[in-house]
Amino acid sequence: MQILAKCPQCDAALPVSATEPAATIRCGRCSREMSLSWSDAVRTDGGVDRCPVCEGGDFYIRKDFDPTIGLTVVVIGAIVSGVFYWFGRDLIAYGILGGAALIDLVVYGRLKFVTVCYRCHTEFRGPFPITAKGFDLHIADVLEQEYERRIGRR
Ligand SMILES: [Zn+2]
Ligand SMILES: [Zn+2]
Repeated sequence: MQILAKCPQCDAALPVSATEPAATIRCGRCSREMSLSWSDAVRTDGGVDRCPVCEGGDFYIRKDFDPTIGLTVVVIGAIVSGVFYWFGRDLIAYGILGGAALIDLVVYGRLKFVTVCYRCHTEFRGPFPITAKGFDLHIADVLEQEYERRIGRR
């Protein structure tokens, strides 16, 4: 699986591969060194049971949505339909606009889930079975505060 480790000091996202698990990584932005602890499940794509960055075991899932892709489709659709509208072909114009919105929906529906660590916001992507549940604001509040106290940010 691919992991986007979040630096506890400056929140920079650092890509790490679980197939070549490094014991430590250095943040490219603030050069803080982090030690990573890899569980067997994470190393072998069995699932995400323990976060290599903060060693927490609580995760949530969200859709891996890249808003720029959706926006591009809508903008292109709007431009093309605007051209047709200009030439008085309203029906085609509306059709294209609707089509662009539909493509948007399909793209969104086909998105994969990304597993995110509640405490340090490290992200996990890969073919492992998803076990985490959706985002819970209450859990996030408790765990984020606990983590920030532990790393001395509060
Ligand atoms: Zn950093
Ligand atoms: Zn974590």
